[in-house]
Amino acid sequence: MTNAAEQDWQVPGESRPATDKRCLTILGATGSIGQSTLDLVERNPDRFEVEALTAFENVSQLAQCARKTNAKLAVIANPELYDDLKQALAGTDIEKAAGPQALIEAASRPVDLVMAAIVGAAGLAPTLAAVKQGTTIGLANKECLVSAGDFFMGEAARSGAQILPVDSEHNAVFQVLPSEAGKDINKIILTASGGPFRTWSQEQMAKAQPKDALKHPNWSMGRKLTIDSATMINKGLELIEAYHLFPVNADQLDVLVHPQSIVHSMVEFCDGSVLAQMGAPDMRTPIAYTLTWPGRMATPSPRLDLKEIGALTFEGVDHTRFPAVGLALSCLKRGDGSPTVLNAANEVAVERFLEGDIGFLDIVSLIDAVLNQTDKENAHAAPMSFQDVMELDKFARECAGQIADHK
Ligand code: NAD
Ligand code: MG
Repeated sequence: MTNAAEQDWQVPGESRPATDKRCLTILGATGSIGQSTLDLVERNPDRFEVEALTAFENVSQLAQCARKTNAKLAVIANPELYDDLKQALAGTDIEKAAGPQALIEAASRPVDLVMAAIVGAAGLAPTLAAVKQGTTIGLANKECLVSAGDFFMGEAARSGAQILPVDSEHNAVFQVLPSEAGKDINKIILTASGGPFRTWSQEQMAKAQPKDALKHPNWSMGRKLTIDSATMINKGLELIEAYHLFPVNADQLDVLVHPQSIVHSMVEFCDGSVLAQMGAPDMRTPIAYTLTWPGRMATPSPRLDLKEIGALTFEGVDHTRFPAVGLALSCLKRGDGSPTVLNAANEVAVERFLEGDIGFLDIVSLIDAVLNQTDKENAHAAPMSFQDVMELDKFARECAGQIADHK
């Protein structure tokens, strides 16, 4: 197994001068990250232009965004909605396309940056297509790294694609990590808000409804990630994400619960120094850093008022109430295909919870059961190709579906 620890950790060559307009494609433009990205783009028409925007099913929102930004291409992933998209963009010269292959073609167009903001393993194929072109990626779609980390980073190393982390914790680490720091890092500490159930008992969580889990205290995010934050599997997925992005081993990764979501993560160095990045919990700050890296741009994010906040607090993870963090870490440490299984099983479990088929605590027990089942069937070999990842992902989803049907 290879990871960033065994690769050179270098800041790649010069970026374009700040006066040039940067050309962007946004995969998942209608989602929470997509919309925050578009907000920055629309506020800075002199700095950015849009090549392509994609969405899953929301034709009217996609068309509206494409018109507003004068995008060259709009792609709807659901092929049955092609005619609707044509209609919604009638009278414009915006190109229209639909279906999974169109998504891949859109992602392959030459641009300065592809914002990978699709949710779930569904984003892997188009994001990989952009990586293969050597395009700089703003990576929000963490499931790409959980599901296919070794393969994904291997492709990026081959093509020279720069991966700029959008996830607030990883963006924080990226901001404080000097390029030559590899051997001097003691550990990376990801902070976690603790989610809406940080103070709930196990008994209360057993009865939690989707509406309770969808109320995140600090962040406004898509539904899947909001549920992932409530189970705290999000932090487990982020440990796997960090392992692939930064030059550390699995045992150099740690999590601290920090309910204020002001310190977005920290790096502890061998001399005892700890560097942290702080900011208000607004994704436009990390997104902006990826859009203009290595420079910065002004954002409308609220300014941090530490006097007002008063105290920043930190606590350990309660692994009894939130077993998902340890489960994900153990998958990472196995060094096989179990993160792919974990990710796929989680996607199914979250869906089934939101549909009311299973309880809140069943989400993590379902993932655990799928890992055990696929283990028994010896299905955990490390995926070496895109095909391998997709087959293991499909197998885990089927297994999760069957187990959920019997819950
Ligand atoms: P979201 O649900 O708000 O948006 C998802 C986007 O993906 C939408 O545009 C949707 O149309 C598109 N999409 C969904 N399924 C698709 C499919 N099968 N094929 C093609 N397109 C599809 O999600 P989000 O909260 O914006 O999160 C996007 C990604 O960014 C996730 O991986 C998430 O973990 C990560 N992320 C989000 C935040 C945040 O604050 N929202 C923070 C850190 C990381
Ligand atoms: Mg995060």
